[in-house]
Amino acid sequence: MIPLFKKSATLAGAALMTCSLFGTAHAADFPAKDKVITIVVPFAAGGPTDRVARDLAEAMRKPLGGISIVIDSAAGAGGSIGANKTAKAAADGYTLLVHHIGMATMPTLVRNIPFKVESDFEYLGLINEVPMTLIAKPTMAATNYKELSTWINDNKSKVNLGNAGIGSASHLCGLLFQNAIKVDMTTVPYKGTAPAMTDLIGGQIDLMCDQTTNTTSQIEAKKVKAYGVTTAKQLATPALKDLPTLASVGLNNFEVTVWHGLYAPKGTPADVLAKLNGALKVALKDPDFIKKQEGLGAVVVTDKRVDPAEHKKFVSAEIAKWSPIIKAAGVYAD
Ligand code: ASP
Repeated sequence: MIPLFKKSATLAGAALMTCSLFGTAHAADFPAKDKVITIVVPFAAGGPTDRVARDLAEAMRKPLGGISIVIDSAAGAGGSIGANKTAKAAADGYTLLVHHIGMATMPTLVRNIPFKVESDFEYLGLINEVPMTLIAKPTMAATNYKELSTWINDNKSKVNLGNAGIGSASHLCGLLFQNAIKVDMTTVPYKGTAPAMTDLIGGQIDLMCDQTTNTTSQIEAKKVKAYGVTTAKQLATPALKDLPTLASVGLNNFEVTVWHGLYAPKGTPADVLAKLNGALKVALKDPDFIKKQEGLGAVVVTDKRVDPAEHKKFVSAEIAKWSPIIKAAGVYAD
């Protein structure tokens, strides 16, 4: 731990010194017109994380002077491949990461991740909060949660529960669900919930717990069946407003809300970070961005939370919140 912090501090210091010594301050030119900003997405294309990153890239482009912002799909290992890739990338502001609640739960859910969430990244601000829904293949006969739980109890380990890999939000939600109903199902990991959704619609898997940003349109089109939401209150989104909370149908205190944040590699110069944070703040007020997110059940965070210190404080609080829950449930993986 200690050498890592020291190394990071030295790198950041060196970057800032370079700026002042050579006059052509890094941040004054940032972002350079001939460069491209890459946002690393740690889950499969077309899924919830990819969707928020693409919408964000579009909204951040203008406040960053029209620079191209591309998505690098570095999916796999429950989001840790993309996070690790970003942690090891050049700390120059041209590589960023959009990641979700997994940044706080992965360190407890997965024992050996190759990076340190709290010391290998610069925190740029939170983006949104997204509820999850418990959904099933379209041929599932159960018409409500009670019937679904009877079917699960009748089939137990024969039930195939999809997720986006160990350490992902769907993994966390699925593990908490299995723990709450005391049934061990067969979990089927994918590189993201976009491919898992394809298999759920096709009936290759039976169940999944996933963000509304991926499930709303499929529920609306009746391509999947929905049985409940993971929030404390029912949702206002038209397609989801009749879904009960899972807590109200017998899963006591069952509550998971996914959030996303923007990160840069540790050591990115402070003034570059300030420019990126400014662009993020503008992007999150973009009416198009807000409309797209709200239409899918997500809530865009307010200005106060689009703050590096607040973001970091929040992630630390989420680690402290989830770590004992995951440990008590005994749901971590190697
Ligand atoms: N929804 C996924 C998860 O369960 C991530 C994704 O596919 O974007 O974590």
